[in-house]
Amino acid sequence: MTAATFPAPSDGMGKTRKVPRILILGGGYVGFYTAMQLRRRLGRREVAIVVVDPRSYMTYQPFLPEAAAGSLEPRHVVAPHRRELRGCTILSGRVTGLDHGKRRAEITPTEGDAYMVSYDHVVVGLGSVARTLPIPGLEENGIGFKQIEEAIALRNQVLNKMDIAASTWESEARRRMLTFTFVGGGFAGIEALAEIEDMARAATRDFDSIRPQDLRFVLIEATPRILPELGDELGGYALEQLRKRGIDIKLSTRLESAVGGHIVCSDGDAFDSDTLVWTAGVKANPVLAETDLPLDQVGRVRALATLQVCTEDGTVVDGAWTAGDCAAIPDLAAGEKGKFCAPTAQHSVRQARHLGDNLARFLAGEALTDYFHKNIGTVASLGLYKGVAQIAGVKFRGPVAWFMHRTYHMWAMPTLNRKIRIVLDWTTALIFRRELVALGSLQSPRQEFVSAAESGKKPVAST
Ligand SMILES: Cc1cc2nc3c(=O)[nH]c(=O)nc-3n(C[C@H](O)[C@H](O)[C@H](O)COP(=O)(O)OP(=O)(O)OC[C@H]3O[C@@H](n4cnc5c(N)ncnc54)[C@H](O)[C@@H]3O)c2cc1C
Repeated sequence: MTAATFPAPSDGMGKTRKVPRILILGGGYVGFYTAMQLRRRLGRREVAIVVVDPRSYMTYQPFLPEAAAGSLEPRHVVAPHRRELRGCTILSGRVTGLDHGKRRAEITPTEGDAYMVSYDHVVVGLGSVARTLPIPGLEENGIGFKQIEEAIALRNQVLNKMDIAASTWESEARRRMLTFTFVGGGFAGIEALAEIEDMARAATRDFDSIRPQDLRFVLIEATPRILPELGDELGGYALEQLRKRGIDIKLSTRLESAVGGHIVCSDGDAFDSDTLVWTAGVKANPVLAETDLPLDQVGRVRALATLQVCTEDGTVVDGAWTAGDCAAIPDLAAGEKGKFCAPTAQHSVRQARHLGDNLARFLAGEALTDYFHKNIGTVASLGLYKGVAQIAGVKFRGPVAWFMHRTYHMWAMPTLNRKIRIVLDWTTALIFRRELVALGSLQSPRQEFVSAAESGKKPVAST
C-alpha cells in the first residue's frame, strides 16, 4: 500500500475540521441513497462524507433495457454524483484494498498513483458483477448488461449489424449479423431481449432489404423456465408471448462454446452469431476479497439486520456498514432463519436509506433498528405496450402491466429532474417513434481523424 494520504475533512471553507469521516465505497444505489440520507440528517459540520466510484454517476439499472431500445436517452437514466450529492466529496477511482483494522482504504484513481483514505466509518456498497462461467469464447465475444456503457454498445451493435447486413447479399454473413443471442432468462436478460427485439423489429420498417422474419433472436436458459421471480403462471405467459413473436427460447439448455462467434448449445444446436449478451446472474464484487471484512461462502459481506458488518458468529465489526448486492442481509420478512435479501433495487434503495438512518442514530448514541421489507411486487417490461406484473399477489399482463412498470420506475427514479426528462423522452417517442439511429463511431471516435492524418503523410503527386 502507498504512503500518500487523502487530506483530513474540511469545513468547505478550506479549514480542516475534526468531524467523523464516512467513506462510502461505490456510488450505485446503496452509495447514492446512503449519502443522500446522511446529508439529509447531518450537516457538513457534523460529518464529512466521501463517495468513491470509478463512474461519476449512479445508474438506474431497471431502465437500461429501455435506454438500449431507444425509448430513453441514455444520459437520462443516470444521476450525476456531483450535482445530486451536494456537500459530499466525490472521488473518481476504484477501491483496490481495505484495511479496516487500520481504518484505511486504498483508492486507485483513474489516472495517477494509488493513495490512502482514512475514515471513521465505512459503508460498503460495491454491488455485483456478472457471474460468468469458463465457456470457450465467452470472454472474447460476450458483452454484459449491467452498465449504461453496455446498453449503449448493445444498441449500436444491433443497429449497426442491421445497417451492414442490409448492404450485403452474402446469405451466411447476413444470417450471422442478424442473429442475436442472449444467455440467461432472469429479469435483466428477458427485459433486455424483449426490448431489443421490439426495437429491431420496429427498425426493419426503415430497411427495404431486411424483413422482421430475417432477424433471429435466441435465448439460452439453463433452467426449465424464465422469470422465476414471477411464478409459473406469469413466467409461462411471458414465455408464450416471446415465442409468439418468433423468439427462439431454449429452456434447460446451456451455452457450451462461443469461439469465433460460433454458438454451440447443449441441445445440439449450433449457429453463428455476431452478438452474444450474457445476463446469467450476478455475484458479489470480487474486490471484496481484497479487504479484511468478513465474507460468506459466496463472497458477500456478512451483516446484521441493522446493516452493520458482523463476523460469522454475529459479532458487530465496529465502524463497518453494508447493503445491496454485495451484502448478505438477513431477510426478516421471510419469516425463517438463514434467508437473505435478494439482490434487487427494491431492497438496495430501502436498505441504503435505513443504513443512513442507523448510522446517524449511532453517531447520536441512539438505538439502531432492524431492516425489514416485505416485497411489494414485481414488474417487467416485454417491449412497447407489453409487460407482466404481480402486485400484492394480483397478476397483471399486457398493456396494463407495461403501464404499471413505467409508472413504478418513473416514481422510483431518483430526482425530479430525471423523472421529468424521462416522461419527456417517453412522450417524444410516442409522438415521433423511438430513436433508431446507431452512432457506431462512438466506439472509435478518432478513427476518421487518424485516417486523415495518415493520408496527409503521403506525398502529394506534383502536376
Ligand atoms: C438490466 C438490469 C435490470 C434490473 N431491473 C431491476 C428491477 O426491475 N427491479 C429491481 O428491484 N432490481 C433490478 N435490477 C437489480 C438492481 O439494479 C440492483 O440490485 C441494484 O443496482 C444493486 O444496487 P447496489 O448499490 O448494490 O449496486 P450497484 O447499483 O451496481 O452499485 C455498485 C457501484 O459500485 C461501483 N464500483 C464497482 N467496483 C468498484 C470499486 N472497486 N471501487 C469503487 N466503486 C466500485 C460501481 O461503479 C457502481 O456504481 C436490475 C439490474 C440490471 C442489471
